[in-house]
Amino acid sequence: MRVVVCGAGIAGLSLAWWLERAGWEVLVVERAPEQRGAGYLIDFFGPGYDAVERMGLLPRVRERAQRVAGVRYRDPTGRVTGTIPYSSFLRLQRGRVVTMMRGELENILFEALGPGVEFRYSTSVDAVTTTDDHVAVTLTTGEVERADLLVGADGVHSRVRGLAFGPERRFLRHLGYHTAAYLFTDPAIAARLDDHLEMLEAPGLQAGVCRLDGDRCAAVFAHRAPADSLPQDARARLRERYADLGWLLPEVLDHCPEPSRLYYDEVAQIETASWTRPRVVLLGDACQAVSLLAGQGAAMAVAGACVLAEELLRDGDAVAAPLRYEARVRPAIVRKQRAGRRTADWFVPATRARLRLRTAVLRLAAAPGLTGLLSPVLTTPADRLNSLRPPR
Ligand SMILES: Cc1cc2nc3c(=O)[nH]c(=O)nc-3n(C[C@H](O)[C@H](O)[C@H](O)COP(=O)(O)OP(=O)(O)OC[C@H]3O[C@@H](n4cnc5c(N)ncnc54)[C@H](O)[C@@H]3O)c2cc1C
Repeated sequence: MRVVVCGAGIAGLSLAWWLERAGWEVLVVERAPEQRGAGYLIDFFGPGYDAVERMGLLPRVRERAQRVAGVRYRDPTGRVTGTIPYSSFLRLQRGRVVTMMRGELENILFEALGPGVEFRYSTSVDAVTTTDDHVAVTLTTGEVERADLLVGADGVHSRVRGLAFGPERRFLRHLGYHTAAYLFTDPAIAARLDDHLEMLEAPGLQAGVCRLDGDRCAAVFAHRAPADSLPQDARARLRERYADLGWLLPEVLDHCPEPSRLYYDEVAQIETASWTRPRVVLLGDACQAVSLLAGQGAAMAVAGACVLAEELLRDGDAVAAPLRYEARVRPAIVRKQRAGRRTADWFVPATRARLRLRTAVLRLAAAPGLTGLLSPVLTTPADRLNSLRPPR
């Protein structure tokens, strides 16, 4: 059996791992010139945590996790308004949670792949044609690859989805925010940080800074923004929106990279009526983006890949197996998307009064971490890989 996977992110690499081990020929095409790495901090738990355990990768994941003691909220002057320990989140997940860089998870998956996975970087999909017994994938290099299955694991702005399912505007639900992230190295800033995620907030915006290893730091931003308002110059937009936040932020913004190296996107969910077409299937954010509001996109990408692989390896039916995968995973995604939307208005409150109320509620709930903003999602009781079963 042969599969073409578009996208070497968390979802694509996870699926490649499973299928290559089962003897499938796997070709991964990736738009970026190399593995992207880096990114931002993610909390990784639930079905995805179970999936990396099943893959035997949990020790490596835990080894490369980031130690975060909690979140410390500050007002625009830098005054501490609240601290939320991470320990309560750990308890809630019975210790089965790690905080790590998204890119580190990607690296672990990449390093674990066998030699049978072929990669083509700086390459994407240009056209897709399906017949009863195969899919022909025309690459941007002009080559045509024949396979049993094409997997679109190419993220929120999926090209495969655009080609096989329709234009993005039909599927993307804007949640009212833009987000940005970058890494930088600065010994003076690192020296002022401990193992807390420092979160500076003002009405309508928040900026998080934390120390990684040595002098390396990560910055993450989220601010209210209407739909269809992605800026031409993301760096200029960040500097303009966050100019009034004080404390460390002016120095942090001095490290903001040029727009092509800055992650900047809208916060959005993807909702499609179907995740499959005959011999074409979507995976990860391409079909199930829950957004950072629901905080489990990476975890659900790994879990989704595990379920898709399980179904494909059950009978090798590249048409029926994707339908079974969708039936098993979609209900959990619908629940998480709904929960994420419920938190949307409180994620970055628009007024000072709401901001105070939100911080007080968080403190009461003792829900820590970026995902601590999302306690309604985190308290899903049966949030395990083996709960992804077909609906009765
Ligand atoms: C600020 C922030 C915080 C987050 N926090 C969390 C968290 O705490 N916990 C959590 O679980 N999740 C979190 N997420 C979500 C998580 O990062 C995503 O859900 C996850 O990365 C999705 O993985 P993916 O492989 O589906 O897509 P992606 O990571 O987007 O990977 C897609 C891959 O496809 C490639 N690609 C794109 N277009 C093309 C193309 N046309 N052709 C070829 N290749 C292409 C890309 O270069 C990339 O390598 C967060 C997201 C953000 C933005």
